[in-house]
Amino acid sequence: MNIFNLTFPLTVDFSGGKYWINGEGPYLCGEASTAFLAGEIRCESTVDTSQLMQELETVLKIFGSHLSPYSEEQETTDDVYQQLKQSAAACSVNYAFLPLQGSIVLAERYTFPTLRDFLYVELGRAILHGNAPRQCRLCGGWFLHKQGDRAIYCERTAPGQTEKTCREMGARMVFEKKLQDEDTWKLYKRAYKKYYARCMKGNMSEDEFKAWGEQAAADRDAAIEQLKAAADAALSASIIQQLKENLNRL
Ligand SMILES: [Zn+2]
Repeated sequence: MNIFNLTFPLTVDFSGGKYWINGEGPYLCGEASTAFLAGEIRCESTVDTSQLMQELETVLKIFGSHLSPYSEEQETTDDVYQQLKQSAAACSVNYAFLPLQGSIVLAERYTFPTLRDFLYVELGRAILHGNAPRQCRLCGGWFLHKQGDRAIYCERTAPGQTEKTCREMGARMVFEKKLQDEDTWKLYKRAYKKYYARCMKGNMSEDEFKAWGEQAAADRDAAIEQLKAAADAALSASIIQQLKENLNRL
């Protein structure tokens, strides 16, 4: 039995942030919840998948918010806390010795009656250990964010790509955005130097220079904001071109 194909009641041995199912593993806490949210776990027809997904997302939002699992920030309400009070998992716990790599490990042996009970505990333990399912910023697919790992993109093939993963594409996008931000600052500094020199030579009044400076800083910040939202390279290029004209119009 593996985490993609589970039958219940299910016996799981937890030790720290890992677990074993019928001696198979170790799996990392959060792997099963992530696979479930990604739609990769085969479920019995009695499971209300969308309701369970919603419930897990709520748990994640409330208890895992410090792990930034979401691409969208959402407010939590008192109702949700109320709902959580009634959402305890049903399971029995035993202790067991697991023979692992020549040594014996003491594990907590849980028996879960349903998939929901298992995922509720599995996700909770994941959060306790600093792991959490996270949504890829590029394709929206769920992936497991491991403790200390700052990845915001998954490792699936990126949308519209044949080989490059979201992570590879994302790294490039972040890099390109950084270059664009640097471009806007470069344009601003160059124009600033030009008008400052003009003002020093007496070809521009101090008031005029001050007014230019205020407008230029506003134009620069607006361009940086527009670039953040710009989806393609052509639009970014036109924003940068427009900034260049605005900064040098005097
Ligand atoms: Zn992705």
